[in-house]
Amino acid sequence: MLKEEIIQSNKDYFMDVFSGRVPIVVDKGEGIKIYDKEGNEYLDFLAGIAVNALGHSHPKVNEAIKEQVDKVIHCSNIYYIEPQAKLNKLLVENSVGDKVFYGNSGAEANEGAIKLARKYFKVQNKDRYEVITTTKSFHGRTLATIAATGQEKYQKSFIPLPEGFKAVPYNDLEALKEAVSDQTAAIMVEPIQGEGGINVATQKYLQGVRQLCDKEGILLILDEIQTGLGRTGKLFGYEHYGIEPDIFSLAKALGNGVPVSAFLAKEEVANAFKPGDHGSTFGGNPLACAAAYSTLSTILDENLVEHAARIGNYFQTRLQDLVEKYDIVDSVRGKGLIIGLEVNIDANEIVNTAFEKGLLINAVSDTTLRFVPPLIVQENDIDQAVGILEEIIAEKN
Ligand SMILES: *Cc1c(COP(=O)(O)O)cnc(C)c1O
Repeated sequence: MLKEEIIQSNKDYFMDVFSGRVPIVVDKGEGIKIYDKEGNEYLDFLAGIAVNALGHSHPKVNEAIKEQVDKVIHCSNIYYIEPQAKLNKLLVENSVGDKVFYGNSGAEANEGAIKLARKYFKVQNKDRYEVITTTKSFHGRTLATIAATGQEKYQKSFIPLPEGFKAVPYNDLEALKEAVSDQTAAIMVEPIQGEGGINVATQKYLQGVRQLCDKEGILLILDEIQTGLGRTGKLFGYEHYGIEPDIFSLAKALGNGVPVSAFLAKEEVANAFKPGDHGSTFGGNPLACAAAYSTLSTILDENLVEHAARIGNYFQTRLQDLVEKYDIVDSVRGKGLIIGLEVNIDANEIVNTAFEKGLLINAVSDTTLRFVPPLIVQENDIDQAVGILEEIIAEKN
């Protein structure tokens, strides 16, 4: 099919829900590069929205996937499989979680986390069901997760929403304390708000949230879907804060592009789930687990977490130079390789020009550019990306 036909076919047959789709037909990817059907090359600093942690077509992950495809793709959680057993152990041994459950998307992992929090209090005969979240958060697109997402734009067309969610401002411990009631089951936050603008939780805030949960006997759920698995320069975002969540969710980077998500919980919490309480047909199937196992073991074996911390600092330093040099660039935010650049012009204009110059990025607000490149990104890639950005910015300044 021709590029124009592919785009037109989408307009004709695919539901029109994605705003600002970029006119590129992706054909293949390799490392941090993406190629379209005409053979044009793009530097991928979006990584499928923080998904392709190991870049595209990673040889180890692709090999693991191919090997699994030829054995068995799916068989149901009614049976036991080795790839899941290996992944369970790897996730638990490298995190503060004791038990894991798999789903297919971030939203599904968060739904499971919320169900587990409710069940935890149900088995104690306590009437605690409410989950307090934060404004500008993003937890997914299902009904319960848009109820959890503290942004009206995702909610307003779909009311009534499931009950038991309340959002208060991020990084505001006092607001959280005031919101806690006898019905509160959990507080759910992102260590860094991704979709909401790359807003980083302060040390004082997340530590305070942990203390508040301990004091009130409620659960702390961390949504690590975007921050997890090395992106922040630690394997999990919570490691920056010296705290442990009771439940946390993972998704984006977990399968390097194969759909797989997970939520993990402390033993005592996880034990609230009994046979029949939760499930998933596809979740944690052989293919998904083989992809996730090889992704996570590669991240660990190749020290990509340390690399993300180091190269992320380099990236932030280069972006800080732009802040100092140009009036239209205001500030840099983030940790490791989850970075926001605040500008005071239309961020989407920069995104579109960057695309024309061969750099894929996106904007998470009208004035915030987001950079979430693969963790394997190197200094020369960053130099190239910053070079393109500077060209655009210098022209608009
Ligand atoms: C992307 C994201 C989700 C939703 O994940 P889906 O796979 O799109 O359902 C939830 N929480 C956070 C923090 C995310 O970044």
